[in-house]
Amino acid sequence: MEDMGEALLRLAMRHSPIGMMVTSPDGEMVAVNEAACDMLGYGRADLTGARWQDITHPDDLAVDVDLVAATLAGERSSYRLTKRYVRKDGTVLWGDLSVALLRDDDGTPLSFISQVLDVTEQRLAIERIAEANATIEKQARTVAAIYDAVDVGLVLIDRTGRYEEMNRRHRDFMSLAYPGGHHGMAGQVGEVYEADGVTPMARQDLPSQRAIMGDEFDDVRIWVGSDPATRRALSVSARSARRADGSMAGAALAYKDVTDFMRALYVKDEFVASVSHELRTPLTSVLGHLEILMQREELPDDVRAQLAVVDRNAARLEMLVRDLLYVAQEADAALHVTRVPADAAAMVREACEAARPHATTVGVELEADLPESLVAMCDPQRLRQVTDNLLSNALKYTDRGGRVRVSLRTVDERMELEVADTGIGIAEEDQTRLFSRFYRVDTERVRVTAGTGLGLNIVRSIVEACGGEVSVESAPGVGSTFTAWIPHVAPGDG
Ligand code: ADP
Repeated sequence: MEDMGEALLRLAMRHSPIGMMVTSPDGEMVAVNEAACDMLGYGRADLTGARWQDITHPDDLAVDVDLVAATLAGERSSYRLTKRYVRKDGTVLWGDLSVALLRDDDGTPLSFISQVLDVTEQRLAIERIAEANATIEKQARTVAAIYDAVDVGLVLIDRTGRYEEMNRRHRDFMSLAYPGGHHGMAGQVGEVYEADGVTPMARQDLPSQRAIMGDEFDDVRIWVGSDPATRRALSVSARSARRADGSMAGAALAYKDVTDFMRALYVKDEFVASVSHELRTPLTSVLGHLEILMQREELPDDVRAQLAVVDRNAARLEMLVRDLLYVAQEADAALHVTRVPADAAAMVREACEAARPHATTVGVELEADLPESLVAMCDPQRLRQVTDNLLSNALKYTDRGGRVRVSLRTVDERMELEVADTGIGIAEEDQTRLFSRFYRVDTERVRVTAGTGLGLNIVRSIVEACGGEVSVESAPGVGSTFTAWIPHVAPGDG
């Protein structure tokens, strides 16, 4: 029977796809099968006679030793353990180990029969999944932390307008905009106002509502809240979220707090308005008295010459103050134009004659190509201002020896005022921005030339208020041509 049992065991060992070992109670491997050798990368001769402790991963040794001791002590007859072995090439084998102890009839331990199933692949797969999970969790935590820490309100809205996600910052903005609560759908009208801070925003203009209609935009300014102490100004951007097939999945919106910026803009306008007001009164008085003074006949020539310098500079100062005041008022109210029948050609001619002494001083040839008269319904003061500003720029930004040409004509139904120079010119990227308030081209030549960056803004405002438009054509180093078109309304037509 005994032999029969051993023969069966040997047979099973030889053909089993599972690694099998027979070890002595003190750990010596008495027999190992081929599957075990293959798993561990050892030859049979290497393993036979060696100790299982020597091929066990050091970190898993203690557990196995304890289990063996408990089995030998009779506390159990067998055990199972998932443990690591170290292959001959140093790599790790994960084995699902089952061990049973054979005892003789007296109960004396004879040998352990161990079976090892290679579960390395499964373990590695589990480890990889665990690692991937850990990475995903870490990224999710990082994103969540950033999401909540950024100083920008972030919102995700689905296709139907339902709010899907919102960060902490945005919840603050929402509580200002909707003190009575928000039902979680885009398009709820609340304490949301347009950039002027007073006009309540209509439903279709709400950034969230526009975003779900597929609009993408940047820097749409709104105010939320009505309490002046706590309300905030926000600059809103929106982008559509699309699925792989291009269909609309929803929208993402970002709300940036620009309250300080908006308040600073307001303060700037207020400041400009009040300063220019305050400056104007004393200046008017200075100019008035200068005029009276210069009419006195007994003045010595040198005093007269000096008074002329004072007068010129005071007049310049007055022009600057007027520009400032004008711009400040323009921020508040639409520009007012009064049309009367007037000779536009005469106004432009006056402007040219007034500039001629200065043109001579700076060595620029000034040419005027004007009709004898061009009577139209227009605002002569404003027309003069447009010509003055364009002409003074042309003279400012043209070098000695250059030419400036002012022309006025009617083309179709429009008056066309053109001021062309052979000056420094303007780079293409600056051309569209010239007409913005306070914009000056950032070159050395412009920096050393006095100016406020308001002149062209005023030109545009006046021309547009007259129903016209203004444009520039220019090439650096060649010169610039500014053209203002104003509808030509003959007296009696309008
Ligand atoms: P500024 O007071 O600076 O002249 P403007 O609003 O009149 O302000 O003009 C804005 C800017 O446009 C100027 O600073 C200058 O850089 C540019 N510019 C205006 N006119 C001309 C011109 N004729 N030639 C070249 N650059 C010009």
